[in-house]
Amino acid sequence: MEDIRGNLEKVEKRIAEAAEGSGRKPEDVLLVAVSKTRTPEEINTAIDAGVTHIGENKVQEIMDKYDEVKPVKWHMIGHLQTNKVKYIIDKVDLIHSVDSLKLAKEIDKRAASHGITMDVLVQINPADEESKFGVSLGETKGLIEDILEQCENVNIRGLMSVAPIAEDPRDVKVYFDKVKAEYDEFSRIDHPRLDFKYLSMGMSHDFEVAIEAGANLVRVGSAIFGERDYSKVRIGG
Ligand SMILES: *Cc1c(COP(=O)(O)O)cnc(C)c1O
Repeated sequence: MEDIRGNLEKVEKRIAEAAEGSGRKPEDVLLVAVSKTRTPEEINTAIDAGVTHIGENKVQEIMDKYDEVKPVKWHMIGHLQTNKVKYIIDKVDLIHSVDSLKLAKEIDKRAASHGITMDVLVQINPADEESKFGVSLGETKGLIEDILEQCENVNIRGLMSVAPIAEDPRDVKVYFDKVKAEYDEFSRIDHPRLDFKYLSMGMSHDFEVAIEAGANLVRVGSAIFGERDYSKVRIGG
């Protein structure tokens, strides 16, 4: 059994050190504990230990666990298919993975039917990797403009990014820096539904580098819950 509480303490300490190292306060960086493949029991252990935000990358896992997990803020951090928006629109607080107008329009429609506005991040694929979702840096502005024009029930709260995998995450800090520069550009724009608050970058292996580059939301899974065992999870969703 993984020492979730102990791991969490270590991660929080590392976040605090990275924040302070770049002149910010520990509480300026939001920790989203990524609970994909984890059981509701494991997630509840993390919540008892102080986790207040959890992230899942599959609609099916959110639906399966939602009723069994203690009150917490849910983040959809994975690729989201348009036809599945309806299942999570009333469950999640923030969707990190908006990368097309089609998806934003569906979120808009479902949010309207629930009488809510949905907070989203636009996902950027800064190294234009084939294997990753997200818009390229050059497409970001166009997508944001389209969403602001066409999706009344969607608030754009920031940007999300997954950096390329590298043995030494310092080698890919340049991508975090590029996304941060983009984030700063949009933060200056005044629009009622463009209210930048979150720069979601950094995972277990690179969150310190991401924080150094300016991330204020990190998505950390295995450093808290241990290595994932995908054989325990059903495929799909
Ligand atoms: C799984 C996942 C994470 C967390 O990854 P770890 O390496 O376990 O910290 C973060 N972001 C996204 C989008 C993920 O799918």
